[in-house]
Amino acid sequence: MKKKNLQKISRRDFLRLLGIASLSISASRCAPLLEEEASPPEVKPQEDVETAQTESPSADEIEAEYDALVIGAGIAGLTAAYHLRGHHIRVLERADRVGGRTLSGTHEGYTYAKGTEYLGEPEGTLAKIIADLGVQMVEIPSPMDAHFHNGEFYWGGDGIALSYIQEIGLREYNRFMKTMQGAYAEYDDLPETDFDSELARLDDITAREWFNSIGVPEALQSAYNVTAKGLFGATLDEISALSAIPEIAFDFEDAEAIEDVEEDLENTPNQKGEHSESYSCVTGITEITDAIAEELGERIALGAQVTQITRAGEQYIVTYEDEDGLHTLAAGVVILAIPAEIALRIAASVLSAEQKKIMGQIAYAAYLTVALFSDEPIFDKAFDLAAPEGYFFTDVYDATWIQRHYEDEGDAGIITVYIAPQSYKDRSLLDLSEDEILNRVYESLERIFPNAREKVSGYDIQRFPYAYPVFTPGAYQRIARLHEITSGSLLLAGDYMIYPTFEAAAESGALAAEKAADELG
Ligand SMILES: Cc1cc2nc3c(=O)[nH]c(=O)nc-3n(C[C@H](O)[C@H](O)[C@H](O)COP(=O)(O)OP(=O)(O)OC[C@H]3O[C@@H](n4cnc5c(N)ncnc54)[C@H](O)[C@@H]3O)c2cc1C
Repeated sequence: MKKKNLQKISRRDFLRLLGIASLSISASRCAPLLEEEASPPEVKPQEDVETAQTESPSADEIEAEYDALVIGAGIAGLTAAYHLRGHHIRVLERADRVGGRTLSGTHEGYTYAKGTEYLGEPEGTLAKIIADLGVQMVEIPSPMDAHFHNGEFYWGGDGIALSYIQEIGLREYNRFMKTMQGAYAEYDDLPETDFDSELARLDDITAREWFNSIGVPEALQSAYNVTAKGLFGATLDEISALSAIPEIAFDFEDAEAIEDVEEDLENTPNQKGEHSESYSCVTGITEITDAIAEELGERIALGAQVTQITRAGEQYIVTYEDEDGLHTLAAGVVILAIPAEIALRIAASVLSAEQKKIMGQIAYAAYLTVALFSDEPIFDKAFDLAAPEGYFFTDVYDATWIQRHYEDEGDAGIITVYIAPQSYKDRSLLDLSEDEILNRVYESLERIFPNAREKVSGYDIQRFPYAYPVFTPGAYQRIARLHEITSGSLLLAGDYMIYPTFEAAAESGALAAEKAADELG
């Protein structure tokens, strides 16, 4: 779903809010916040988490020594490694491919996204890497967004506005738009890491509480609850208002009050003039991760699952397992670019008590994506069709949309449906069998496209145990503190360190590399 505004949230203001840009948050400001927390939500052990070995390897078992080891080859780890490639480094990745949550499949000439779909216009670190490596980004053609609402389709920005106005009336709609514009404008005035600011206060309340406090009508809350689930794997009642505001407000950034619905709004799938301000590569975001991996070459070890990190004198001892068995490496610096929960398990003996406490409060949402292949298109009139509340999935994407526009490739129909949990605490999605998933997908899909099931000739299901780190209230204070206490030779990267997006994860990798470079001299 929409990740259009990361340049505004993850790069500049959120970095400032987190105190990363200036590293100026005083410990005294954050520490009491953490201590006051009555009972931090305890993260339950999730599936797919390695158990650390108890025995430390001995010195003569060390096979090789490095300046730095990067654990995980998602965009965070790849970015960190890219910046450190002048040093003697190695990246250890447990999967047999790079990219982590950014992954693609192929079918009859088309490449379809199974995880990361698209970005806002890249800036900073990511933009520079993209330019250095010659990766071509393309704007997603319009209409980018569509809604299915009360049995009707609404196309593009105009159509979506129309559907909201039908629910809440023109006056309320214009009022909501103005409120969101006001909240969004505040990001430009965000004071340097001021946790007493009005905006930072929004980190302490849920998005629902904030919506209620400004009187957002129930119909809009319901629509944005679906958006929140799609974007964050969590509901408006679970995420902090600060996480939700920019995503929602961005849609209204340049909007003007609507005076005359009939004259000002058109509901048509042919809104070709609109700029989506959303970007991908013709064959998906994996072009970026693949290009970085190519640049890193043999520095990356695939199929290498790290099981334990310990400390011996000045060095970290990293144990990993591949098809040949157990291996032991040593390095002066380690960057953990893996989900917080896995980092906690494999590096328990080298993380500080406070790091462990904060990381233990970062829960992940589970998520599924399902690609459905067909000989004739099921949906091909917009890139992203949002479903209303009460459907098994939040979105239906036309996975051929970008390639058809830019390359006219292939002749298959592919849609992907993105399936979020009802609450991030509910991980039962991961236990559903393929048949259960497909039956539930068809049951919802046929409410939108009757007889869709008969057209489907194949499918591809992807399960994400660590889809999104959930930014519950207080998250930004916690993360700011985590950045402050993480320096030296054991560093943390990943989207949980800034914001749950590709670009923010890249930024976290760059920040870790910067600290590592200082350490390495
Ligand atoms: C379905 C879905 C859709 C999304 N859509 C978008 C979108 O449209 N736009 C956007 O900006 N963001 C999107 N996101 C979020 C985005 O994918 C993530 O924020 C980003 O990819 C996180 O990158 P990362 O490097 O932090 O983590 P990951 O990509 O998860 O990388 C971590 C890597 O560590 C490896 N690893 C884990 N444990 C070990 C171990 N013990 N040893 C070695 N390696 C290990 C993993 O295999 C993985 O490769 C989406 C996420 C999901 C799940």
